[in-house]
Amino acid sequence: MYRTHNCGELTISDIGKRVTLCGWVQKNRTLGGMSFIDLRDRYGITQLAFNMDTNEALCSQARTIQREYVIQATGQVIERSSKNSKIPTGAIEIEVEELKVLNKSAVPPFTIEDETDGGDELRMRYRYLDLRRKPLMQNMLLRHQLAMATRNYLSDGGFIEVETPFLIKSTPEGARDFVVPSRMHKGEFYALPQSPQTFKQLLMVAGFDKYFQIARCFRDEDLRADRQPEFSQIDCEMSFVEQEDIFNTFEGLVKQLFKKIKGISLPDFSRMTYNDAMKYYGCDKPDTRFGMPLVEIQHMVHGKGFKVFDEAELVAGICVRGAAHYSRKQLDALTDFVKRPQVGAKGLVYVKFNEDDTFKSSVDKFFDEVSLRSWADAFDAQAGDLMLILAGAKTSTRSALSALRLEMAAQLNLIDKNVFKPLWVTDFPLLEWDEDTQRYYAMHHPFTAPKTQDLQLLYSKPEEVRANAYDLVINGIEIGGGSIRIFNREVQSKMFEVLGFIEEEAHKQFGFLMNAFEYGAPPHGGIALGLDRLCAVFGGTDSIRDYIAFPKNNAGKDTMIDAPASLTQEQLKEIGIDIK
Ligand code: ASP
Repeated sequence: MYRTHNCGELTISDIGKRVTLCGWVQKNRTLGGMSFIDLRDRYGITQLAFNMDTNEALCSQARTIQREYVIQATGQVIERSSKNSKIPTGAIEIEVEELKVLNKSAVPPFTIEDETDGGDELRMRYRYLDLRRKPLMQNMLLRHQLAMATRNYLSDGGFIEVETPFLIKSTPEGARDFVVPSRMHKGEFYALPQSPQTFKQLLMVAGFDKYFQIARCFRDEDLRADRQPEFSQIDCEMSFVEQEDIFNTFEGLVKQLFKKIKGISLPDFSRMTYNDAMKYYGCDKPDTRFGMPLVEIQHMVHGKGFKVFDEAELVAGICVRGAAHYSRKQLDALTDFVKRPQVGAKGLVYVKFNEDDTFKSSVDKFFDEVSLRSWADAFDAQAGDLMLILAGAKTSTRSALSALRLEMAAQLNLIDKNVFKPLWVTDFPLLEWDEDTQRYYAMHHPFTAPKTQDLQLLYSKPEEVRANAYDLVINGIEIGGGSIRIFNREVQSKMFEVLGFIEEEAHKQFGFLMNAFEYGAPPHGGIALGLDRLCAVFGGTDSIRDYIAFPKNNAGKDTMIDAPASLTQEQLKEIGIDIK
């Protein structure tokens, strides 16, 4: 037997026991005639003690042992003279009698402790050493707990887990596909699924009623902190349901996860239409942990000779409570912030509603105090507040204000990291028009059903059709989305037509689904929640990478195994790809 206990479980009540532990050497230090080793495994750290006076040979041996060696130690559990209250095993140590090196270790390229000195690049290359560190180990444990609790909840609710294929067919909608060449059918390719969408719908046609899968999805997109080329979704589909049924089931899931894993009881989730989200928060995933809604004032500002406002489609702003004291320098910095290419505004108008009931603004030349006071009313501003106003095209101005709103909340520390505000965003538009390609794209995906009351508009004014689609947002992060699906062949054909598919093409790409709709497809709908993002929200960080055991870096590479990599000429020939 290698060990009797792990390194995280011995406490004062084990004193006197003879135990054997195995693990990695985190630290080895000498204090006069004593030597101490911090022995680490997944469960914790236990101190091993060696005494020169009582066992010189063993203590000398201990002193030769280096960081990250794998060792086995047997000895008595004794009470420590200087206790460490920060760790559960801090009241005891092992008075070692036998010591065995199970494996040596090269000097690790960075320190394997809670705080490490390793840079990103190095830690990615030695991911297995980074994962040995407690913070990452705990992240993976959190992920496991979330996945298990999800499986239990859904299985208890009658969902069955079904695996769908990875080798499927490339489709023109959605993001770019990763493709896999076929050896047996040279010149033909599989694609990796962007999601199991069509398969889960076919499972509904098959009568599975409630399906789920913790599914790997692949999308060949540019990467960001919250995006990876492969990621996991808690993917679900249900038959004979309406939006309300989906909300009940998945609100229940998220509540249960918060209860079980964080001990937090969440109230019922708020709801907001897409239109309201855009109007009041400037984005479709508002962080509702703080207020500061967008206020539109273009109807109050036209005709005073200020060209920027006169020519703008939208003039809107936010009221920042208690920020009238912002200095010239601070306001200049905010102007620079909104002018950054990522935010994209042309300039920033400020109005200070001073404590002494006077106004000071960057547009004093054009607007008198009466005007400014009327704006203050619209903004619900009080003495001491600062109004920040942007003008321009509607969409870009809203999105810039959304960024400014978040920036102000960060500057003024308005966000409580321990608060969780889930929100259903509903009534998304079915389609969005793309100027470049001069065609409509499905805002969610082509299988999403129009709202019943908007169905006729699909034939006359497609841009006005609202979808039976919804997103779940927590603290400004899109955790997931889904929709009630089209289950009628004609409507599906019409949808493809609106998306610019010629009939033949639609049939070639999605004929299997439309055929299936001929054989008694039930009304159905579903949702997919991003497991990696959910982990990041639970863990309180922004980066989903920290919750994926072996992620890709920002350039989409796995530097540890060195992927992607080239193939030999022979391999290329075998799959029928010739690169000269
Ligand atoms: N398949 C969709 C997605 O990946 C989710 C859904 O509609 O259920 O976003």
